Amino acid sequence: MLKLRIALLIIIFSYGIVNAQDYRWQQRVEYSMNVRLDTKTHKVAGDQKLVYYNNSPDTLTKVYYHLYFNAFQPGSMMDVRSHNLPDPDRRVGDRISKLKEDEIGYQHIQSLKQDGKDISYHIDGTVMEVILSKPLLPKAKTTFDLKFEAQVPVQIRRSGRNNKEGIAYSMTQWYPKLAEYDFQGWHAYPYVAREFHGVWGDFDVKITLDPSYVIGGTGKLQNPELIGHGYEKAGTAVKKSEGELTWHFNAKNVIDFAWAADPDYAHDRVQVPNGPELHFFYQNNEKTADTWKKMEASAVKHFQFMNETFGRYPFDTYSIIQGGDGGMEYPMCTLIMGEGTLNALIGVMAHEASHSWYQMALASNESLYAWMDEGFTDFSSEESLNAMAGMANTHLGSYQSYFALVASGLQEPASQHSDHFNTNRAYSTAAYSIGAVFAHQLKYLIGTENFYKGMKKYYNTWKFRHPEPNDFIRVMEKTSGLQLHWYLRYFIYTTKRIDYGISDIIESDESTFATLQRIGEMPMPIDLVVTYKDGSKELFYISMNELMGNKPVEDLTMKRTELDEWPWVNPSYTLKIARKASDIESLEIDPSLRMADINRKNNKVTIAEKTLPYKNPTR
Ligand SMILES: [Zn+2]
Repeated sequence: MLKLRIALLIIIFSYGIVNAQDYRWQQRVEYSMNVRLDTKTHKVAGDQKLVYYNNSPDTLTKVYYHLYFNAFQPGSMMDVRSHNLPDPDRRVGDRISKLKEDEIGYQHIQSLKQDGKDISYHIDGTVMEVILSKPLLPKAKTTFDLKFEAQVPVQIRRSGRNNKEGIAYSMTQWYPKLAEYDFQGWHAYPYVAREFHGVWGDFDVKITLDPSYVIGGTGKLQNPELIGHGYEKAGTAVKKSEGELTWHFNAKNVIDFAWAADPDYAHDRVQVPNGPELHFFYQNNEKTADTWKKMEASAVKHFQFMNETFGRYPFDTYSIIQGGDGGMEYPMCTLIMGEGTLNALIGVMAHEASHSWYQMALASNESLYAWMDEGFTDFSSEESLNAMAGMANTHLGSYQSYFALVASGLQEPASQHSDHFNTNRAYSTAAYSIGAVFAHQLKYLIGTENFYKGMKKYYNTWKFRHPEPNDFIRVMEKTSGLQLHWYLRYFIYTTKRIDYGISDIIESDESTFATLQRIGEMPMPIDLVVTYKDGSKELFYISMNELMGNKPVEDLTMKRTELDEWPWVNPSYTLKIARKASDIESLEIDPSLRMADINRKNNKVTIAEKTLPYKNPTR
C-alpha cells in the first residue's frame, strides 16, 4: 500500500514536471523543396514536401500558409496600406499599383495533398487556408505535398528581381510557407509590410537554374565540388555543366529559408576565430570593390563582439549578400544594399548580422514584439559599432528618436501589432528606438553587470524557443533579484513617460534638503549625484518600492548613500544631505543619461549659480 502510494506520488510528481516542460510546446516542420528558376521568364516551378509535427495539445482541422509574393499585385493589402499611410515607405509608395502583368508577383498552387490525398484550400491574398481531410491529432504528424508556380515580382521591397543595384534575384518570402501555431493560436497574418515569424524546422532545398548564376543563401551548400565559384577546395578543377546547374542547400533548426542569385557575384570567405565562416556575395565593381573588402574585417570583429557579449552564434556559416534594397535579415544570411559609403555598409551589416541573435536564434514574434527583435538588434549593434569605433554616447541616437516621437504627438504603445500602427514613424521608433532604450535603461535599473549577465542568460535559456516579453523580464528578474514587470508594462504597453525634476533646495541646521518631483506618469528609482565644491561626488540612491530592492553599486569611485525607497504613489520626495549648501556645487538626477527622462531641463541645479531657498516649478 505504502509502495503503491509512493509509486503514485512519483507518477503524479513526474507528470507535473513533464507538464512544466510542455508549457511552451512548439510546432515543427521539415521542408524538402525542389525548385527550378527560369531566368528568362522569371518563373519558379516548385515541388514542396512538408512534414508537419503537431506538438500542441490541440487537434488541428486547418492549417495556414503564407503566399507572400501575392502582395506584389495592384490592389493587394500591401498596396492599399501604402496608399493610405500618411508616411508610406518610399521604396513601396505607389509602385505596386503600377506593376504590369509580367512584373507582378504571384504564387499559384497547382496541387496540394495531405498524406497522399488531394485536399481543399482557399486563398485570400497572401494567406491560404487549408482544410485538412483528416484532423491532425496532438503529438501526430502529417505530410503535405504541394506543387506551385511563382512569378518573381520586379523588386519592390525585400523580394524580387532586377533591383536598383542590378541584383538579378532576391529570393526571400519566395515559397509557400506554413504559418506558426502556438499557445496564442494561429499567426497567419496577411503580408502588409512586416512578415517575420515562422515554425522551427529543417530545410533541404535544391535550386536548379542557369549555371552562369551564383547563389548565396540560408544553410550549407551540400555539393560545393560541383558548384565551384570559390566553394570548392582550392585547386579543385570545376567544370560547370552545360544547360542547368542544381544547388543543394541544407539548414537545420531555422524559421525560414532565403537566397539570392546573380551572374556577377564575387564570393569571398573569411573565418571568424571561434565563430562561423563568413561568406560574402557582391557584384565586384567600382562601387563595391573597395568597401566590401574593408567591411569583411568589420564583420569578423562584429561576430567576435556579439559572441563574447551576448552569447555564441549557433550556426557554423553566415552569408552577407548584396541584395540592393536596404537590409533584411534571414536565417544564416542577410541581404543588404551593397553600394554607398563604407560606414553605411558596416552599419547595415552590423544591424542585420545582430538579428542572427534576436530574430534567427531567439525568434520572438516580430509582428507582435518588434521591440524585442529590432530593438535588441539595434541595441547590440550600436554596442558593437561603439566597441569598433569608440563613439561616445552609444545609444544617444535611440534616445533622441524616442524623445522626438514623444514631441511629435504620434507615439503609440510599442506593444501593438507591427502592421497596425497609424504611422510608419510610430512603428519604427517603437520597434527600433524604444526597444534599444528599453534595454539600455535596464542597465540603470538593475546595474550594468547584472544586465549583461542577464542578456547572455536570456539568449542561452530561450534560443530556438520564441520567447515572449515576460520570458525576457523573468530572466532579468532572476538575474538581478529585482522586480521588473511594472517596467515592462509602463514602457512597452503604455505611452506613459518619465519626467523627474528637482523642485526645492533649502538649507537648515548645517544640512541641505532637496525635494524631487515625479512629474511624469511612469515611476523610476532615482540616482541623484551631488558634486561638492572640493570636487568629490556622492550618489544618493532612492529605490522605487515596486523594484523590491536596490541595484548593486555600479561605480566604486563614488560614495553611494542608500535612502528610503520612494513609494510610486507619492508625487514628491525630500532628502537630507548632511552638508551645508555652501559646500555643494550641483545636484543632478541621473547624470549617466540612461533614464529616458523626457525633460532634462529640471534634472540639474547648480547651487553656485542659484540663491537659496531655490524653487523651481519644474515644468
Ligand atoms: Zn532590423
